[in-house]
Amino acid sequence: MFDSLDLDAKLTRALADMGYKKPTGIQQEAIPVALEGRDVLAQAPTGTGKTAAFLLPAAQYLLDYPRRDPGSARVIILTPTRELALQVYEQAKAITAHTDLTCGVITGGINYGTDKETLSKSLDILVATPGRLFEHIEKESFSCQEIEVLILDEADRMLDMGFANIVHQISAEARWRKQSMLFSATLEGSGINTFARDILKDPVPVSASATRKEQGKIIQYVHLADDYEHKLALLIHLLNEPEQRTIVFVKTRERLATLKQSLQSHDIPVCWLQGEMPQDKRIAALARFKSGEVPILLATDVAARGIDVEKITHVINFDLPRTADVYVHRIGRTGRAGNKGTAISLVEAHDMVVLGKIERYISQPLKRRVIDGLRPKHKEAKVGKKVKKKKASTSAKKPAKKAKQRRSQKD
Ligand code: AMP
Repeated sequence: MFDSLDLDAKLTRALADMGYKKPTGIQQEAIPVALEGRDVLAQAPTGTGKTAAFLLPAAQYLLDYPRRDPGSARVIILTPTRELALQVYEQAKAITAHTDLTCGVITGGINYGTDKETLSKSLDILVATPGRLFEHIEKESFSCQEIEVLILDEADRMLDMGFANIVHQISAEARWRKQSMLFSATLEGSGINTFARDILKDPVPVSASATRKEQGKIIQYVHLADDYEHKLALLIHLLNEPEQRTIVFVKTRERLATLKQSLQSHDIPVCWLQGEMPQDKRIAALARFKSGEVPILLATDVAARGIDVEKITHVINFDLPRTADVYVHRIGRTGRAGNKGTAISLVEAHDMVVLGKIERYISQPLKRRVIDGLRPKHKEAKVGKKVKKKKASTSAKKPAKKAKQRRSQKD
């Protein structure tokens, strides 16, 4: 129950309105530490409830220490994409709905006039993409002096997208802050470690995978395939299942265009997202998918970053991703907070090495399935070591002190 987390009644009321009954694993782990004012280094993929895991303690902090005068944002949340920024902003508004706290969002792709209006108001929480925020800092239309909490959401994506320098500069500008939190789907790789070392002070590491409950709800399996045509036939068969809302991932934009045509020529209606799509088209495609009007969404990884659609029943990897962490990211779109999900990968002979990496990364061999009439001609070559299933570990930290004590102790 959220009661045990010592949150203000205004926040728990909002959670009840939002239909959140009990905290997810990452929320149970991250919220108590963040409420103590400690820096947080969180490994939490999309779908684990990470957004509320940082929004709730940030909002609680603002309520514990109300501002005397209006001013610029005290909590900054940086996200890699504008879509994610908008989603975090929507959640921030919902969580603070019964408070007087104000939230704003500024992202690339939206005109500066709108930003000006946002930044001219007194703000408590500002969600922003790094590039656009930095432009405002440079133009002196935003000052970092009042930032008390800095949150990086999907930090690994920010690195992938080349935002490291800008984020470092924003972090330097916000050097008077009291707290920083870094959330990332994976904490592997030197980039993310350098990032964490430079931005966080003595952080407490928390991990969503400590309670693999959310991930455990995803059934994962593989169909071996011979070539594009075979994959297409398998996909068409899989899309035939009723009552599904499915994201199909492909590796490139060109591939997306080909697959879209192939499916449309089989009278299968699809909507799609691709990078560099005008914002209004993206929003329209997502709306058709969200409403269930068109239950199949084709996307590349770039295009699908940060999208949050509830009740996705299936994730199909028409093409396997190049790395295991992207696989985890992709399948995290389904099986969210309480719902079951299925993740199916179509695997060609040349994908076997990546498949092995994925299996080692998730410590779980993926079941091979076949469909009568669509059996693969090629036999699976054995690559690398066999993966044994690992037991999920549980290392949840207990919440320690009462809300009022925690900050005064730190300050
Ligand atoms: P996130 O990982 O933040 O993208 O959250 C994934 C989904 O889970 C979102 O649709 C949230 O609204 C939802 N969610 C987050 N926390 C909870 C909770 N404690 N109970 C139920 N749903 C939740």
